[in-house]
Amino acid sequence: MHVRVALLPGDGIGVEVTNAATRVLDAVGREFGHQFEYTSDLIGGSAIDAAGTALPAETVAACQAADAVLLGAVGGPQWDNPKASVRPEQGLLGLRAALGVFANLRPVRVHPSLADATPLKASLVAGVDLMVVRELTGGIYFGQPQGRSDGPQGRAAVDTLNYNETEVRRCLDVAYHLARQRRRKVTQVDKANVLASSRLWREVHHEVAAHHPDVRHEDVLVDAMAMHLIRRPADFDVIVTENLFGDILTDEAAVLAGSLGMLPSASIGEAHNRHRHPRGLYEPVHGSAPDIAGRGIANPLGAILSVGLLLHHSLGLTTEAAAVENAVDRVLTAGYRTPDLASGEGTQTLGTTEMTDAVIARLH
Ligand code: NAD
Repeated sequence: MHVRVALLPGDGIGVEVTNAATRVLDAVGREFGHQFEYTSDLIGGSAIDAAGTALPAETVAACQAADAVLLGAVGGPQWDNPKASVRPEQGLLGLRAALGVFANLRPVRVHPSLADATPLKASLVAGVDLMVVRELTGGIYFGQPQGRSDGPQGRAAVDTLNYNETEVRRCLDVAYHLARQRRRKVTQVDKANVLASSRLWREVHHEVAAHHPDVRHEDVLVDAMAMHLIRRPADFDVIVTENLFGDILTDEAAVLAGSLGMLPSASIGEAHNRHRHPRGLYEPVHGSAPDIAGRGIANPLGAILSVGLLLHHSLGLTTEAAAVENAVDRVLTAGYRTPDLASGEGTQTLGTTEMTDAVIARLH
């Protein structure tokens, strides 16, 4: 297969982990006979410095011409002024819109040897293997009207939460499609006892579930879910939810894996066929980590696992994707750790490059 990948390293450790991820992609190419061709463009703070905008037109064009997009991270203290009219995150939001990606996939798997690295009891996180599907382009972050006003009671503000059934159904379809490749259970999270938009999600969920009698399904209120995720995280397979709830629950779920540096993500849109989502956007969950940038110690595994998601969801290369996941598992089993992962007896601390070498050596 000949594949065009648009690289957007971004800022801080984004550059370091994207470099690690492309080395792994090239190794997959050598091992399995694929050719990866790259473009590299600016996004976020580095784009603001060079072009005055967080998302230059050339960056969008390169991403739209590619089969998939691999992003590092954006942001840093030098661009953090909340009053600035151009901000690094505008690059991410603009890119999602330009690519038409509406579902954000965040797998959280706890490797047995990292169960001690989480703040929770190891017995609670053992066996956690879940996937959160978050709606990405609708809901309260985008609804209109939104804004501030002054009235007789003083300052006021409004945000609007709306969804239509097309937005809801396409996200649920993604969740059910994934569940059928996994343990066949979907948990839809809402606040249907209070919110009309949540009642729509629940209604559409039951319609979609009726088409998948082989998948177990449930609806859980978001406040209860916040508790269940900590008390019995291993019970969940695919969790699907709207934008705001997903934003909060994915950060909570991230704690289970021990380090932000371990977590990959994918943002996908309409599939060309059941298995391939062209122009998906793949990125580690973490930010640009200015506190460790340039020191060669960033954990590259979140970015490398994002390569696994890219191979799976945009290219349909499931064997190659599994090879990447297995290589990461073997590296952890062998006791290799970057400094962000608690290390103990029988472990060896490696930098970004050495960790990447260790993964590549286990791709066979
Ligand atoms: P962060 O994720 O960058 O860092 C949080 C903590 O986790 C830091 O101590 C950092 O050193 C550590 N960490 C993160 N990734 C790591 C890795 N791969 N290896 C080792 N340690 C790692 O979050 P933050 O500090 O809140 O934000 C820093 C900047 O990143 C801000 O400008 C923020 O806006 C931006 N940000 C960007 C994204 C994104 O690009 N998707 C996401 C979150 C934050």
